[in-house]
Amino acid sequence: MGSSFLSGIGPLKLPPTTTKRMIELRDVSQIYRTAHGDVRALDHVSLAIAQGEFVALRGPSGCGKTTLLLLAGGLALATEGEVVVAGRSLAALSRAERASFRASEIGFVFQTFHLLPYLNVVDNVLAAAIDASRKETIQRADALLERFALIERRTHRPGQLSAGERQRVALARALLNQPRIVLADEPTGNLDPENGCIVLDLLAEYHREGGTVLLVTHEEQAAARAGRCIQMDRGKVLSVGNADLAGART
Ligand code: ADP
Ligand code: MG
Repeated sequence: MGSSFLSGIGPLKLPPTTTKRMIELRDVSQIYRTAHGDVRALDHVSLAIAQGEFVALRGPSGCGKTTLLLLAGGLALATEGEVVVAGRSLAALSRAERASFRASEIGFVFQTFHLLPYLNVVDNVLAAAIDASRKETIQRADALLERFALIERRTHRPGQLSAGERQRVALARALLNQPRIVLADEPTGNLDPENGCIVLDLLAEYHREGGTVLLVTHEEQAAARAGRCIQMDRGKVLSVGNADLAGART
């Protein structure tokens, strides 16, 4: 095993990238229609995140951070505007194409882990696998568990794990398919500072290997890991930080 969790399994085989803008929102609005009227969760948002950036997304509760992440990951389609991720306009993809795009390009990490309680650790990691029966895929799952100090927990169920361990399982699952993008929604929100720090270290390591990270967080120690901070309020982007995307047109 090398010192890096990705090089330990072989180099990070990110597909060659011609796209310099990994995530781009062009005048995007998201409106939720409810029985009590419409909620404009995103209000004409435009932003771009370059390949290999580590960006923190911040703002008060309810300002639209999770909505933005769901749109960037193709889990929802924007009401208005265009979302382009890894060079593809998500609205132009069929449902099946979007699912396969998500599986190969995007790793999701959530505050509440979202592990499957009836599957053990390694099967949770493999649950997201594009091909869970391939020998290399299983080896890769084990290498991630080794790197994440979870190998002794391999056959434990999530209910037998600490919160920190559960989030490391979720991160291993997110990285299994070697996605070019990780979208993390308050991944340290349910962790003590020490375990939060471990999860952030692993995210930072993925970023150093070439990954693009968009991290929603309320925490100073988490935001400090990012190269840039995007600030939101009430559905709008207030500031995009020091984006230097002038030479990064797709
Ligand atoms: P954040 O993650 O910043 O807390 P969200 O993106 O979850 O914000 O929510 C933005 C706004 O959209 C909030 O007012 C929230 O109540 C509303 N909202 C989110 N999801 C839905 C939904 N499925 N239906 C109706 N309103 C929603
Ligand atoms: Mg949220």
